[in-house]
Amino acid sequence: MSLAAAIAAETPRVAAMLDALAAIGADPPGITRHAFDDRENAAHALAIAEARRLGLDITQDAAANLYFTWPGTDRAAPRILLGSHFDSVRHGGNFDGAAGVIAALAAVSALHASGFVPRADITIAAFRCEEAVWFGLGLVGSRAALGILPPDALDRRRADTGLTLADHIARCGGDASAIAPGRRLLPEGPIRCFLEAHIEQAPSLLEAGVPIGICTGIPGNIRHAAIRITGEDAHVGLPRRFRRDAALAGAEIFTALDALWAEEDAAGRAMAVTIGRFHTDAAKHEITVVAGDFTFSIDLRAYDADHLAALERRFHTILDATAARRGVTIDRGARNAAPLGPCDAALQASLAAAAARMGVATTPLGSPASHDAANFAAQGIPTGLLLIRNAHGSHNPREAMDTADLMAAAATFAAFLRDAD
Ligand SMILES: [Zn+2]
Repeated sequence: MSLAAAIAAETPRVAAMLDALAAIGADPPGITRHAFDDRENAAHALAIAEARRLGLDITQDAAANLYFTWPGTDRAAPRILLGSHFDSVRHGGNFDGAAGVIAALAAVSALHASGFVPRADITIAAFRCEEAVWFGLGLVGSRAALGILPPDALDRRRADTGLTLADHIARCGGDASAIAPGRRLLPEGPIRCFLEAHIEQAPSLLEAGVPIGICTGIPGNIRHAAIRITGEDAHVGLPRRFRRDAALAGAEIFTALDALWAEEDAAGRAMAVTIGRFHTDAAKHEITVVAGDFTFSIDLRAYDADHLAALERRFHTILDATAARRGVTIDRGARNAAPLGPCDAALQASLAAAAARMGVATTPLGSPASHDAANFAAQGIPTGLLLIRNAHGSHNPREAMDTADLMAAAATFAAFLRDAD
């Protein structure tokens, strides 16, 4: 069977797997697959069933990440690693993460059906807990696999269960005591490259009318999950000059950051700043109370390390200036950072060529979001990322990816893997 015919033959199976994943995650409105928990485990079980059907070697590491390996004829040759994640945010969509693992499985299945025999090992990974919502830290599974999980991460508690990350890892059959800085949990041996497919989280590909973006780079980010501004709770009648209004300080910071972003946009320097949490304490800040404390989160991202560092300095300057002007104090809380992920230029060219051989149209595209792939890129492993056309963004129930576009990613992977030697 030709590779194109084998890919076409995979489509019903892929559609059925996506339906099964939606049923596993069903949590109206949308999909919830909690990290390190039953629903992520159920998604893993679905992938394991497919890996068994394909006769792949199935292993799980100490962080409970899954690996499916198709052994090559030369076991010493550097392996090609592909993967993504199955967890979602609460009430998110079905495709953020899952599409990448399914595309890799479909590529391997089609290659298998076409009679291909790999020279080097091909391994598909399903990484745990990519989403930062569960433990206040993103890319957890791939960080652990690469030996770059921050040491304090294992003691973090999931707000809803009260259990630590170490507890959750144990509940999924992992062993947190084997996770340590510098200790890789990935399958043994050298890695030739890491490839991920992920839905695009913006409508650029939809706008361009192209199913697949070849990622040119993944931004790094710095995050503070809870920055606390403290002023003074006061009566609604207090004159302005006496107020130490924490909510207004928060608003001032927000508008200053938006102005900074507009300035950078105008200068053509790509970045993004997002404030997700932004609130007074609704239990005590009634309509007649000046809010004396206020909490917000921040995610600041850019594609260049020096640019990101400069933006972080500007951010702190804004906080200091606002604190002085408003008579408030600002506790920044814990800072987390995700590295920049430069995408390998040669891989970008090879992936574009592989897509072209399969009749798949592509365009170069920066990824505004961070992905597991960024960890591999930051560790110096040549990394490629395919972005799949998707309407309505992600982290919401309205994600909309055509299965045909996922198959375009699978076809690209399959042609790349077939011709990699
Ligand atoms: Zn994702």
